Amino acid sequence: MKIEKLVIANRGEIALRVLRACRELNIHTVALHSEADRDSKTVRIADESVCIGPPPAGESYLNIPSVIAAAEVTDASAIHPGYGFLSENADFAERVEESGFIFVGPKPETIRLMGDKISAIRAMKEAGVPCVPGSEGSLDDDDMKTIEIARNIGYPVIIKASGGGGGRGMRVVHTEAALLNAVALTRAESLAAFHNDVVYMERFLGSPRHIEIQVLADAHGNAVHLGERDCSMQRRHQKVIEEAPAPGITEEQRQQIGQRCVEACKTIDYRGVGTFEFLYEQGEFFFIEMNTRIQVEHPVTEMITGLDLVREQIAVASDEPLSFSQDDIQIRGHALECRINAEDSETFLPSPGKITQYHQPGGPGVRVDSHIFANYTVPPYYDSMIAKVITHGNNRHKAIARMYGALQEMVVEGINTNIPLQRTLVKDSAFREGGLNIHYLEKKLNE
Ligand code: ADP
Repeated sequence: MKIEKLVIANRGEIALRVLRACRELNIHTVALHSEADRDSKTVRIADESVCIGPPPAGESYLNIPSVIAAAEVTDASAIHPGYGFLSENADFAERVEESGFIFVGPKPETIRLMGDKISAIRAMKEAGVPCVPGSEGSLDDDDMKTIEIARNIGYPVIIKASGGGGGRGMRVVHTEAALLNAVALTRAESLAAFHNDVVYMERFLGSPRHIEIQVLADAHGNAVHLGERDCSMQRRHQKVIEEAPAPGITEEQRQQIGQRCVEACKTIDYRGVGTFEFLYEQGEFFFIEMNTRIQVEHPVTEMITGLDLVREQIAVASDEPLSFSQDDIQIRGHALECRINAEDSETFLPSPGKITQYHQPGGPGVRVDSHIFANYTVPPYYDSMIAKVITHGNNRHKAIARMYGALQEMVVEGINTNIPLQRTLVKDSAFREGGLNIHYLEKKLNE
């Protein structure tokens, strides 16, 4: 079914990104917003807008009845959830479909399957995707069995909450003496945070890289992979710089792991864009989780493939078959993304407030995805990311040189940002070498 009018159930740069894709596709847009986002750029340029509640996300962007009601009163045909907020909420997707709207994303049952880590790992194993060695399923009350499982895996192990997310609900265990207490603690924490006390165990990998595979699948059984992204530059499990392709990954490795993910999409009847996240250590990929939505770092893949992922996402949601096959996908050059946050570069304290001056970088191979402008006030209620600077070059070296130039050119005044930190990182000699593991950034920051 052709989508005539689409509700954007998000804010910030991704709301604007979705709006831009809709413009190209000739789809009318309805921007939903909280009272704090009344003056946002997306609200100003959307065809229509609806205020869905007060500033706190729980009362607006996460308020399912308000979002559905807004789609009803505007007579829209589809809802795009963006990332974060309701994007991976299976109950929301179900409500959207029951109310007669298209949910721009996978089927609710797929979101549910992949949202629970144990069921996701089981499904991936069955589909032939390599997973971290671990307990097959959840840990039960049998302490002797738990000890036995850990011995078989070998220490260190990590206890993880099946319902966990956002880097919470995990505990590393180095010795048998600490095991049972760690299981009990993770269980209790998980129950409090996620209303679910199911936990499982995996081998703890010491110095992995984070490498993820982007997939795209239509509702007719076709699926492709769009190569990988390296997101190992992280602080507190939050990605800071992403790039594609991942340094050192060969075309053969790419096709091999990519093909596994494509097969997995077919097995779970996947629809839409999605990301298989892996830890990569000593030449091996280990699946950790799947994100069933568009990701913040999708532009680096767009830059090296020439595809518009949001446009493709909307096309497959409208039941269109993919217009290209795996063989049509060519990877060209290298792309980087630096996340620009409204936060202090040294203390990382959030820095909301009024932007007094803004100069956006430009030039060949430079793209900025951002909703900010001079005199815009960054509200204190939401995520601190205010822009993504993306650069592309024929090779990694050129993409980095462009990024450094762009970061030097970019001016955001009135608030603190992490631009100074990003400049330092892009200059860092180890980063320039490439292939760093997920602990590198925190170690560097501690020095
Ligand atoms: P979340 O859904 O909370 O993001 P993930 O399962 O994706 O949880 O794990 C988040 C991060 O925790 C990973 O990026 C990695 O840094 C670390 N981690 C998770 N599992 C392991 C493991 N088996 N070995 C080492 N680190 C791990």
